[in-house]
Amino acid sequence: MAKQMKKAATSRVPAPGTTARGFQVMAIHVTEKRGRRAFEALRADRPASNTFALAESLPKNLDPESAAKRILAHAFASDAMPTLVDDEASSFRSLGVETVPLTGTTIVKFRQQIRGIPVFASLVSVELDDDNELVSLNSSLAKPDLASYVASISPLDALKRIADLAGYGRQLPDGVPTLNLFLDHGGKWRLAYIVEDVRSRTKGKASPAQHQIPLVHDYVIDARSGALVAELPRTPALRHGTASAPDDLGNMQTFNIEMKDGKRVMRDARLNIETYDLRYRDPLDGTLPGKLVKHPWSPAAVSAHTHAAVVTTYLRKVLKRNNIDNMGGRVVSTVKCVVEQFERPPGSKVWLNALWDGKQMLYGQDLFNGRLRSMASSLSVVAHELFHGVTGGTARLIYLGESGALNESYSDIFGTLIANSKQPDIGKWHWQVGCGMAVRDMQNPTQDNQPKLMKDFVQLPLTLNHDLGGVHLNSGIHNYAAFNIMTANDGRKFIFTPKELAAMFYIALTQQLSRQSTFADSRRAVVLATRSLFRNLPQTQIDIRVAAVKAGFAAAGIR
Ligand SMILES: [Zn+2]
Repeated sequence: MAKQMKKAATSRVPAPGTTARGFQVMAIHVTEKRGRRAFEALRADRPASNTFALAESLPKNLDPESAAKRILAHAFASDAMPTLVDDEASSFRSLGVETVPLTGTTIVKFRQQIRGIPVFASLVSVELDDDNELVSLNSSLAKPDLASYVASISPLDALKRIADLAGYGRQLPDGVPTLNLFLDHGGKWRLAYIVEDVRSRTKGKASPAQHQIPLVHDYVIDARSGALVAELPRTPALRHGTASAPDDLGNMQTFNIEMKDGKRVMRDARLNIETYDLRYRDPLDGTLPGKLVKHPWSPAAVSAHTHAAVVTTYLRKVLKRNNIDNMGGRVVSTVKCVVEQFERPPGSKVWLNALWDGKQMLYGQDLFNGRLRSMASSLSVVAHELFHGVTGGTARLIYLGESGALNESYSDIFGTLIANSKQPDIGKWHWQVGCGMAVRDMQNPTQDNQPKLMKDFVQLPLTLNHDLGGVHLNSGIHNYAAFNIMTANDGRKFIFTPKELAAMFYIALTQQLSRQSTFADSRRAVVLATRSLFRNLPQTQIDIRVAAVKAGFAAAGIR
């Protein structure tokens, strides 16, 4: 049945919101009245549609991916869902199917394509129950207005341009340029080649005022003019990383090792964790990951190894995630790194940083009581940084501006959840994230000069000198919303358990967010995740939990 635009006026589903970045967003869930009605109307409309004309094409007779594809095609064509973007040039490419053990649902993600070209950062998440019927539908779609969809430079030209920018000279970086429709930060749509995960070979790009070294970037090259559109940093780095948290290096730890060529090495085969030592060399010299740590064990390596094990075990047990990449892949840490450019004072081996470089963990060290102490000694720092790896492999939130602040906040949320995971009473949790002087406080962001309300969002240039648009600054707003949700209570007890909180934020991040998501997108995502997690409870119980989430975001001014 063709969509009649005049029906939009009597729509059962409210018009979708349009975000500032030019995407139309819409989210509905079966636990809401309007969602239930819309999904029922869609089912009632099936006999009239070509998509579901045959019994064998009904969702329960298909695999989840085929079912989701048909449900989406039908929803776009049907009168029952008049508010989805109705664009005949659009098609949808599956990004894969994921079963979510935490909710017992299956989520199929799609990317919007126009004339076969993917729309960067677009996302449709179709959540299905056991019968492959809709649990929720969340879409973020665009209508790019390009004059031409034909590239005038070749993929090879784009790679050469990137080789030049990233310091490769005549060599070409690894990676395949893919055409995308990309909305630049000026709000202009571009036909662009994107090459992901290009490791930089230029030294000294970062300003000395920062302890940051973006090692890996995604490059966006205009496919018409060859101009650089964006250089998207993939290096979330900890700022002001001064460690003076309780020193755990003196504590005895038990960890898994392996025998290799008759020697004991720091490899945990069960969790697939490996820990390396760079012996105070510069990771920019191309020596990563360094030497696999052998017995006798250095205290820095013990900290990195045992903390990586705590985080990996949490991922597996609480989030049902199989390591950072969810495929059981290696979790690699390197201790004793010194980026010479930021060594303070020169020759001291002090490099105040810990970071996920897009592929592995790097740890520097500070000076504590006259002794070098690894940044790996703080569990909240390790968890924060490793979670950048989870984000990088899922929502892949661009590390600039609002999406960058959201990336930071999700790392703070899981840094907090993991560092407090041995304390079941949320009332006794610590809300400071980082090490030493509390670098960020989720409860009182303003204490560390972060804003905590949306109206105080700080607009900064998207440059290194301005913290890539204030990613460590504006994260305070989303952190505060998360704090409100984590501590939401009915006057007698907390509304959510730590495990439920972890599941809500994890599902929101990994299933409902995309590269340019905003705080408002996160609000929608956490609400959907909450509805799915508790969908089998009585409606009043669902409503209490959804209200707590909405109130948490509202208190930070995120709507
Ligand atoms: Zn970070």
